[in-house]
Amino acid sequence: MTYETETRSIFVTGLKNAHAMENQALSIMKPQLSRIENYPEVAAKLDQHIRETEGQITRIDGLLADLNEDSSSLKDMALSFTGAMAAMGHTMAGDEILKNSFANFAFENFEIAAYKSLLTIAELGGFANATSALKANLEEEKAMAKWLDENLRSVTMKFASLKEAGETAKI
Ligand code: MG
Ligand code: FE
Repeated sequence: MTYETETRSIFVTGLKNAHAMENQALSIMKPQLSRIENYPEVAAKLDQHIRETEGQITRIDGLLADLNEDSSSLKDMALSFTGAMAAMGHTMAGDEILKNSFANFAFENFEIAAYKSLLTIAELGGFANATSALKANLEEEKAMAKWLDENLRSVTMKFASLKEAGETAKI
């Protein structure tokens, strides 16, 4: 007989939400990567973080398996937060690279908050064996958020320079 505590239930739900969040991250980043032409540094970073994100999903799968929770059947419902961003219609605008930069920065900070919260729940529930995986995911989100923060100026300047040169049709 399994002893179900409320904290365990909160933790499992949080991990499943994180699983959905990471799949949403992939669905946000992959279309951007396929469209970028003029910003190779952004493309390289997105490519790197897509691969990191796939590793994050594997870590979450492992945590759910440790809790005897099957992640293979997760529906991964879209988060309303990202649904709103997707509706912004970035692909039709000449300044897609800027709007995507804002959205990516917002999403990474959403992820940072999610992992900080999950680490707190893990602490409360005594799930010490989950800490290293959650911290690994958190550190990757922090690094991505930092990169986006530090590169917003150069991306903006390049956008302005390309616009001046009449390259606005390409992102
Ligand atoms: Mg992530
Ligand atoms: Fe991320």
